[in-house]
Amino acid sequence: MTDEQIPEFAPFWRNVAARRLCFPRCEACGRFHWYPLTRCPHCFAADIEWCAVEPRGTLYSWTVVRHAFAATFVDRLPYVVGLIEFPDAPGIRLVSEVRTASTDALWVSMPVRARFVDGSGAGELHFVPTTPNGRESHEDSDLCDSSIQ
Ligand SMILES: [Zn+2]
Repeated sequence: MTDEQIPEFAPFWRNVAARRLCFPRCEACGRFHWYPLTRCPHCFAADIEWCAVEPRGTLYSWTVVRHAFAATFVDRLPYVVGLIEFPDAPGIRLVSEVRTASTDALWVSMPVRARFVDGSGAGELHFVPTTPNGRESHEDSDLCDSSIQ
C-alpha cells in the first residue's frame, strides 16, 4: 500500500494535485505534525487543520537509491530520496524524491523547492535544488519540466 491509498494522506495528495504543499497542524496547540494523524501527537486534541506552506525547504539528509525495489523505478536509477524541512512548518520532515543532475552536488541544508507534476488522476511531487532567492540551480534545470512553475 502506498501513502496515496491511506485515507489520512488524502488531503495531502489532493493539495499536491492542486499544486499546494499542505501539512496537518493542530488548532489547539498550533504545532505541525507528520505523518497525518487524527489526533495531535503533542497535545492529543482532535482539531486538525491542513495548512498551506511555502513549497520551499532545506535538505536535512538524503540517500542515493541504486537498487530498484519496484520494476517501475529501474529506469530512474540512481535516484535521491531526501528528508526535507520547511521553515513554515517547524517539526515536519518530509520524505520525497530530490531530482538533481549530480548526487555529489547535494549538501546538508541545501535549499530545495517543490515541483508539482500532473500525474494520472493525482498530483506527483518531487523537489529540486534551488538558490536562496528561489531560482533553480543551473545544473538541475535540464532534469525538470520547465513548463511547470
Ligand atoms: Zn496539539
